[in-house]
Amino acid sequence: MKAAVLKGIENLEMEDISCPTPSPQEILIKVKACSICGTDIRVYHHGHKHMRFPRITGHELSGEIVEIGKRVEGHKLGEKVAIAPAIPCGRCHYCRRGMQSMCINLTAIGYHYDGGFAEFMVVPEDAVRNGCVNTIPSELSFEEAALAEPLACAINGQQLSHIDLGNTVVVVGAGPLGCIHLQLAKAKGASRTILVELSRERIDFAKKFAFPDIVINPSSENAIQRIKEETEGRGADRIIVSCPSGKAQEESLSMVAPRGIINFFGGLPLDNPFIKFNSNLIHYGEFYVVGTHGSAPYHNELALSLISQEKVRIRELVTHRLPLERLEEGLALAESKKGMKILINP
Ligand SMILES: [Zn+2]
Ligand SMILES: [Zn+2]
Repeated sequence: MKAAVLKGIENLEMEDISCPTPSPQEILIKVKACSICGTDIRVYHHGHKHMRFPRITGHELSGEIVEIGKRVEGHKLGEKVAIAPAIPCGRCHYCRRGMQSMCINLTAIGYHYDGGFAEFMVVPEDAVRNGCVNTIPSELSFEEAALAEPLACAINGQQLSHIDLGNTVVVVGAGPLGCIHLQLAKAKGASRTILVELSRERIDFAKKFAFPDIVINPSSENAIQRIKEETEGRGADRIIVSCPSGKAQEESLSMVAPRGIINFFGGLPLDNPFIKFNSNLIHYGEFYVVGTHGSAPYHNELALSLISQEKVRIRELVTHRLPLERLEEGLALAESKKGMKILINP
């Protein structure tokens, strides 16, 4: 089969390798769509502590079941499936309490296991056993189903930051996830969404795709002041910082309303993860700061159903479609921020 094999840092090669064989507890899928995520770019340049080369990356994927191990139950040949890439063990302290995304033995497709930038992929046993294989609703395309993964991460983020009816929600950053957050906040009953973004290109895209009620470009106005003006001086009820910026995290502490909630949704660079802030803002504001990352398998299932109900219109996020051979070009395109979601069709 054709596969894009990451042989080392910034060393990606298209290879013809033998198709993997599933064990009796595993499933083999023909990959139909796999989208490029910021993580794929990071891993291409820097590797990852859980990754050993050579590795096939790609974790936002969907496909069709072409082989089923004889001990697997509940799935059938030809079934169209989306795969939740973060695999919980199902046995640890957190798994037993329903917090699978915090599983202490968490493994992931595209890191510990080969992922979707290949013609075929084995779904590992723990993934099959713990609900990572989700049937795609019949009205959804493979592309939309692959994009259930980033939506699942946004769902986890908004559940833990309690986005609720009537909230004014600020989203900082209009990358693909910022755009998804804007739509999802409305679906969850936010009365108003405010986008804070520096790039004019991204603002134009977000206006068409995610319909923020208010757009603030901090290069031409003071975002903190404007948010206070829009909220009778209180600040926003909820803030999702959906970009890897320490400065944006620091500023969000001055944008939030008393008893509000801030989510540090975007992780900071490993070599510069510290921020500085006035701790009295939290002391007197009595607001909460939460961080979220990743998702659990049931978030993926929920994401598929939200997309099929058109509560979140994910298809428009796709700006480019490329064959597997052009993965490296796709990575560069995603990194240049010229595209939103780039889909690889192996
Ligand atoms: Zn991802
Ligand atoms: Zn676990």
